[in-house]
Amino acid sequence: MTLVYPGTFSPFTRGHHAIVMRAITFADRLVVAVGKNSVKESLVSPLSERVETIRRLYVSIPHIEVVTYEKMLTADLVRSFGKEAVILRGIRSFSDFEYEQTVAEVNRRLNGVETLFLFAEPSYAHIRSSVIRELLRYGKDVADYLP
Ligand code: ADP
Repeated sequence: MTLVYPGTFSPFTRGHHAIVMRAITFADRLVVAVGKNSVKESLVSPLSERVETIRRLYVSIPHIEVVTYEKMLTADLVRSFGKEAVILRGIRSFSDFEYEQTVAEVNRRLNGVETLFLFAEPSYAHIRSSVIRELLRYGKDVADYLP
């Protein structure tokens, strides 16, 4: 099974990493797809640096790849990896659930692409890139939240 894990990953957290490490136990191939999001972009690092950081993290795992995408819908990106490629997303809370439910249905209607969800482990459910960006803005150490 090919899983495509799309996100802004600004920054890539221990929560994201935990989802990748669980998914890789049953996926044949896992593509981390780093997208551009102008709102979430600020402060952390540009797309190219985020990709490099994630690539370095998984350099020794051959069936994990890291790509970027811009000006393209996630559903179309996923289709480019074959008709059996599936989107992977993580769910932390009810608010994630409601948002993800809508996006998954729109993606399915676009080109039939399905979405597979993994619930965050409770010990990672509080980790949110937006909160890390806020801590960074005030000069706090965020090492505990990063892989
Ligand atoms: P987006 O900008 O597309 O919402 P994010 O980079 O914020 O993407 O997150 C990518 C995916 O990872 C989403 O499915 C999100 O719910 C999931 N995710 C984020 N943080 C965690 C976490 N701490 N535990 C599990 N899943 C997470």
